[in-house]
Amino acid sequence: MSLKEGTFFGVKEGMADSLIKNQVSEQWCLVRKDLRNEFGESAFSSWLAPMAIGGLASGRVKMFVPTRFMKEWILKNYSARIQSIWQEHNPEIKEVCFEVKASCSVDVGGGVKDSYGSETGLFEEERTDRLPVIASNHSLVTVSGVGEISAPLDLRYTFSNFVVGKSNEFAYAAAMRVAESKDILFNPLYLYSGVGLGKTHLMHAIAWHIKEKDPTRTVLYLSAEKFMYKFVQALRNKDTIHFKEQFRSVDVLMIDDVQFISGKDATQEEFFHTFNALIDEGKQIILSADKSPTELDGMENRLKTRLGSGLVADIHPTTYELRLGILQSKISGLGVEVPQEVIEFLASHINTNVRELEGALKRLLAHAELIGRQITLESTKEILKDLLCFCDRKVTIDEIQTKVAEYFKVRVADLRSERRERSIARPRQIAMYLAKKLTVRSLPDIGRKFDRDHTTVMHAVKKVEELMQTDSGISEDVVLLTRILSS
Ligand code: ADP
Ligand code: MG
Repeated sequence: MSLKEGTFFGVKEGMADSLIKNQVSEQWCLVRKDLRNEFGESAFSSWLAPMAIGGLASGRVKMFVPTRFMKEWILKNYSARIQSIWQEHNPEIKEVCFEVKASCSVDVGGGVKDSYGSETGLFEEERTDRLPVIASNHSLVTVSGVGEISAPLDLRYTFSNFVVGKSNEFAYAAAMRVAESKDILFNPLYLYSGVGLGKTHLMHAIAWHIKEKDPTRTVLYLSAEKFMYKFVQALRNKDTIHFKEQFRSVDVLMIDDVQFISGKDATQEEFFHTFNALIDEGKQIILSADKSPTELDGMENRLKTRLGSGLVADIHPTTYELRLGILQSKISGLGVEVPQEVIEFLASHINTNVRELEGALKRLLAHAELIGRQITLESTKEILKDLLCFCDRKVTIDEIQTKVAEYFKVRVADLRSERRERSIARPRQIAMYLAKKLTVRSLPDIGRKFDRDHTTVMHAVKKVEELMQTDSGISEDVVLLTRILSS
């Protein structure tokens, strides 16, 4: 038990204590919800669901994680977001720290299980039932036949719920082809796009379609993160043979977000062998990533070549027409009424990705339902104020260079110069990072503005992302600059 009596917030045990605990539990529920939305179901269930609240004192939240590996992974990839999401729900929180506590360890195999009961926001020491419970989200279903390793599929992610437009018609057609055909036409099918544009949706749709046509075929769908997690577990348990068998006994293997495999040597090696063996045995492989195979950072060349050797299909950013279509389809699916002018307004102003579009619509509907008021253009603008001002504002690379130079008190010419000292190089990397995050310009385009090539920009983006995890000064600089540039 981590919370010693009377030390929780320095408040004596009793009503006040349990009230605050309840509040923190409620906040944790909200944080979990946001994390799940932001990182997707598979990353959430592999890495984030197993966390439990250890306590909160003097603005410091303690989270328990079951293994050291998990702690390191969370620190590297998620801690900054966990902290800022907590702060959104409770501005008094200054820090989130992570501690390994083996007793909160359970199997994270089946993603439908919310093994921690933390859906209710319970504190670790309050849990009475250590057995996995079924999550309340009934839209997730585990595919049978591949044991506990397959991640659940979302019932809503079907071909019939996928709205097709110019930006995704090729990827849709390719996915449909693979799902329809029993023969292997292209192997692997490699889908890629920016976030929230429908890759996971299409993969689930393929799986549903195959299962519906022929329930005897085994489809294994999992995130690359879970693949890695399982692999590391197998290594630790000296059970890699069983691990490989699980993959080799399937008809169709789908791995979502393979960019996460980059850089991990042993896992890459294993992935490469499993991948080759499956292809040789005539099994269909479907992969998704946020980049094309050649752009995958930290991936061995032979693997890049292999990944791109089937059919590569990308999903482009949405068009206005597609956004309109998606909104209309979601609205009619929900059986609600939204004025046409509001739908058009959303389609033209929320132009980042489909996930944001869905989020905006959900928020609007929830608001209307809660206060029982009709949705109007006025109320829409009010409710979505924060989303809209960000999307409305088109930032240019020149503006980014000017503001970054001002902020770090260097000259714009320095950012474009050859100078390598840290006081110039760091602002330059941050400016490149912001150009990638805040504009739609390509890496070569950004590179040209700094008299550099695209690999330098790619390196800068990665570097800043890494620094933001470890150096709170840098992440503050980035947050502040983003705010300055977006206002
Ligand atoms: P990605 O995997 O590319 O990050 P997702 O597949 O998770 O994106 O999509 C994000 C959300 O947007 C999901 O809820 C998905 O159903 C929805 N979505 C994306 N594209 C479409 C589309 N063309 N039609 C309907 N819904 C879509
Ligand atoms: Mg996805």
